[in-house]
Amino acid sequence: MYPAIPVTRTQKPAAKPASDTSLGFGQIFTDHMFIMDYVEGQGWIDARIVPYAPLSLAPSAMVFHYGQAIFEGLKAYRQPDGQVALFRPRLNFERVNQSNARMVIPPVDPDFCVHALKELLRLEADWVPSAPGTSLYIRPFIIATDACLGVRPSHTYKFMIILSPSGAYYAQGLNPVSIYVEDEYVRAVKGGTGFAKTPGNYAASLIAQANAYKAGYVQVLWLDGVHRRYIEEVGSMNVFFVIDNKLVTPALNGSILPGITRRTVLELAEKLGYATEERQIAVDELWAAAKAGRVSEVFGSGTAAVISPVGALKYEQDVVTFNEGRIGPLSQTFYDTITGVQYGLLPDKHAWMERL
Ligand SMILES: *Cc1c(COP(=O)(O)O)cnc(C)c1O
Repeated sequence: MYPAIPVTRTQKPAAKPASDTSLGFGQIFTDHMFIMDYVEGQGWIDARIVPYAPLSLAPSAMVFHYGQAIFEGLKAYRQPDGQVALFRPRLNFERVNQSNARMVIPPVDPDFCVHALKELLRLEADWVPSAPGTSLYIRPFIIATDACLGVRPSHTYKFMIILSPSGAYYAQGLNPVSIYVEDEYVRAVKGGTGFAKTPGNYAASLIAQANAYKAGYVQVLWLDGVHRRYIEEVGSMNVFFVIDNKLVTPALNGSILPGITRRTVLELAEKLGYATEERQIAVDELWAAAKAGRVSEVFGSGTAAVISPVGALKYEQDVVTFNEGRIGPLSQTFYDTITGVQYGLLPDKHAWMERL
């Protein structure tokens, strides 16, 4: 058991959104947030829940200059009985420590973080929307706060959790998207920070995302940073292919983010009796297989969309389509099963859900 986390309640509670159907993503924040500080020699201290408000940081705070920071993303889901539940939250805080290790940020206690998150959610439970497909998006993050321009790991940090009611990702149903295979820019390399959830990976990806968007594509498919040949991930999602009826995904090689949805899809596939493979996939291999009609489905996996079917890929001057641009049966099964468990509509056979 952990000691109670002190709460300072807001004097000015915000009006809750009038409707759950126009929440959008990441624009509305709840009344309170969780904070704890790290001070070298003392560890993580002063855990507290306080009103959501701007921070006061020195302009020289290290995070602004050298990007020593990590983040996470998960969701709280309204259950049919009105309660609130989380999906595999401990995995997110274990991943915090994987990211921290790479970014030389001191580790957190994952169990305490889950506890703190639940305390915050108990206070903010009324902010969890209930319209179908909506959720309360949870953003834990850590920033380096030493007021110093020297290039070294910070001695002080802030860990925070903020909450944002979010709309249904698929307002119009699961429509497959078109993806641009990026052959100029790369997201990550082995030995770099690709496996860590760190803001710099996103900063580095914006240019490709913007170019793809201009060309009429919603996301990019990243290739490896050395050969620009092996498939890594799509946008901020992991990627799966159904090739010859086998579910294939790039192996975690150090430059790919180890997604919790990815892991869940692989675990479910095994339970459902589908053959799975985690391995290197060359873009030319994929292209040849696609042209031969052997790639029946392509989809991305991530917390935000859960499953995002891919209808078409563009690489150099060539476009290939999958399943005639419609969602495939396996993509639909994974989507229905995972969201069914998350929203309490299907039995939670694997004990993935945690109620407050
Ligand atoms: C967060 C993230 C994912 C998906 O991870 P989930 O745990 O499934 O949400 C995939 N790729 C990148 C780059 C990410 O940042």
